[in-house]
Amino acid sequence: MAEALLQVEELSVAYGQVEAVRGVSLHVARGQIATVIGPNGAGKTTLLGAIMGLLPSRGAIRFAGDRIDGRDTEALVRRGISLVPERRELFADMTVQENLELGGFSRRRAGESRAALANTMEEVFALFPRLKERLPQLAGTLSGGERQMLAVGRALMGKPKLLLLDEPSLGLAPLITRDILHTISRLRESGLSVLLIEQNARAALQTADYGYVLETGELSLEGEADRLLHDERVIATYLGRH
Ligand code: ATP
Repeated sequence: MAEALLQVEELSVAYGQVEAVRGVSLHVARGQIATVIGPNGAGKTTLLGAIMGLLPSRGAIRFAGDRIDGRDTEALVRRGISLVPERRELFADMTVQENLELGGFSRRRAGESRAALANTMEEVFALFPRLKERLPQLAGTLSGGERQMLAVGRALMGKPKLLLLDEPSLGLAPLITRDILHTISRLRESGLSVLLIEQNARAALQTADYGYVLETGELSLEGEADRLLHDERVIATYLGRH
């Protein structure tokens, strides 16, 4: 097994009395894509929120070997973790360029040069040429697919080591989803590790190296993504036959 960049052990998250995530253990290997699939309300977004320090949790979370549970989100961003939230959360009244610049904010604050950020922006344009064409456009006027590209691009501006992606396919046509996931799988080649949360199980398993199935807050199955794509239970519940 490749070395784990992210390791989650026995993670539980509660909203008041209700435990939305219970005893979840998973890992993301360096330079690989791990996916968590599961139905609506299974706890996928909650899991990412806890990893990112947005929700209190029990259990241990390690990044590059160090405990990061209990750390604030800003510190995690500085360590190299970026979240692309389900609702994309762009600044609608700001341009594409300004949204991208904000993605590099913590690097600027840490003293990195404008030139270094401009280089990263060029890398983002190489992945998503459409963004370069839309630089002066307000984010709120982009199409759904372009918004998702911008959300990923903004996260990449922080030069993360680990990208947490919440349902990138949400509301997108299948072809656009395929394009975006294909781009994300190319990012592996540059050493990026990804935790991909998806309801679209087929697209997620076709993109990822390793997969987990989350059902009502607990993991029910895990394995190499290729193997899960051919697993009878996964086919019957999440993939359907065709
Ligand atoms: P979806 O794919 O629909 O976004 P999900 O797998 O991401 O679903 P979560 O959003 O993590 O699921 O929700 C898990 C459970 O926690 C659900 O039962 C949900 O109603 C509940 N929940 C989520 N957020 C809150 C909250 N702020 N307060 C109380 N309960 C919540």
